[in-house]
Amino acid sequence: MEKILNYINGELLEPSNRSYFENYNPSNGSVYSWVPDSDESDIKLAVGAAKEAFKSWSKTPKQERSNLLLKLADAIEENSEELIRAESRDNGKTETQARNVDIPRASTNLRFFATAILHDHSELHEMDGDALNYTSRQAIGVAACISPWNLPLYLLTWKIAPALATGNTVVAKPSEITPMTAFLLSKICIEIGFPKGVLNIVHGYGSKVGDPLTTHPDTPIISFTGGTQTGKHIAALTAPMFKKTSLELGGKNPNIVFADADFNQAIDMAAKAAFSNQGQICLCGSRLFIQKEIYHSFKDAFVQKVSALKVGDPKANENDLGAMVSETHMKKVLGKIEEAKKLGGKILIGGERAILGGELRNGYYIRPTVIEGLSNDCTINQEEIFGPVVCLIPFETEEEVIEMANATKYGLSASIFTENIGRGHRVAANIDAGIVWINTWITRDLRIPFGGMKQSGLGREGGFKSLQFFTEPKNVCVKI
Ligand code: NAD
Repeated sequence: MEKILNYINGELLEPSNRSYFENYNPSNGSVYSWVPDSDESDIKLAVGAAKEAFKSWSKTPKQERSNLLLKLADAIEENSEELIRAESRDNGKTETQARNVDIPRASTNLRFFATAILHDHSELHEMDGDALNYTSRQAIGVAACISPWNLPLYLLTWKIAPALATGNTVVAKPSEITPMTAFLLSKICIEIGFPKGVLNIVHGYGSKVGDPLTTHPDTPIISFTGGTQTGKHIAALTAPMFKKTSLELGGKNPNIVFADADFNQAIDMAAKAAFSNQGQICLCGSRLFIQKEIYHSFKDAFVQKVSALKVGDPKANENDLGAMVSETHMKKVLGKIEEAKKLGGKILIGGERAILGGELRNGYYIRPTVIEGLSNDCTINQEEIFGPVVCLIPFETEEEVIEMANATKYGLSASIFTENIGRGHRVAANIDAGIVWINTWITRDLRIPFGGMKQSGLGREGGFKSLQFFTEPKNVCVKI
């Protein structure tokens, strides 16, 4: 079985304690590779290498950094078939999802930030002939980039691309549940001669690798994407160290359908928002608010739409949903469905594990699940489930739905479906979320500020926000 290795100072290394743990293929429940059970000593090595590399990388001309990142993007594209298969096998997502979204986005992230640095600008403030202020931005040092399992290579590159482009060096910690494509990326870096120590990747558990990485005195920047609880833990540890921290956390996103919406478009989008990537996207619309006039017709059409979704072998093109990422996560989601039933929720469709035949009989599959009859304030509609589960909630007025949409601790994203443009803007203005879509879902422009309000995060990433996050402004005032 293949051993995944750490990537430190340009080399693939075993963890210093030589310990590994099992990596599962969610489509069939088998162990198929070994993940380094790294610890603080590996982090020290990686941070030391990154600190040393920072001396030259931060002084490397922008154009050269840009060229190297573009070379990495090219190499991802050249290896895309292998990366697609690996992402699907490691995560359980369909190859179609990996082909259409994850892997192309990984190379796009690198291209986007590799070229963005060439088009950045600096600020100048004149003081009525007295003095000039110019503000330059400089790289900070070693960035700790910690990413989750739902979009493994996509979110890893979303962090490392701006960090590296702006002249920082990186120690990345991918999720221990989906380490494979990060490992393949480190092999690609070696093949293309990416400079040693500039990017380092250390695998392992959050407590053993994440903690020493975030609290290391030589990692002044932390970019974290993951759960709200983990985010709180990192914030508590790093706040007294005054580290620059960006936290992209969970969501419980409302999807609001008004009676005047384009009915078919709203049905399609609501299904996509609920079940893409098995409902394991932070932006998934898991609370579906439907205006009373169309509640019954919308519910029937939606359930019919969901009944046509196929759960099955992630490798097969015809399947819409693959496997859940792990047995633990599958059980957690099934537990939430049971809790929903106990609270009086009615399962309109799904609500159970899907047992497939043959080699896939031990895989972690859940049928797309639609529930009605639960109040907005019950735990099922308040806590992130992060699975293929959506709850239908009727509403009467704009005011009522805005109040319900906002009545959670989260504030990541929201979608509004209406043909009344004034209403669309009005509702968007009153929703507490960092990202609001009108008549669409997950349409992403990489230039926009991405992130959440309330307990969905701290700070924004994307476009120039990322370039600013990974740099420190310095103002120089010159007396004329
Ligand atoms: P998680 O918080 O369990 O893990 C995320 C990463 O943090 C992993 O690499 C993990 O090993 C690491 N980690 C765990 N403990 C740590 C510690 N003490 N110190 C440092 N690192 C530690 O999250 P997950 O289960 O991998 O991902 C799912 C969550 O991520 C969901 O809540 C989802 O909403 C969220 N998410 C948010 C966004 C966003 O952009 N807002 C995007 C994707 C996923």
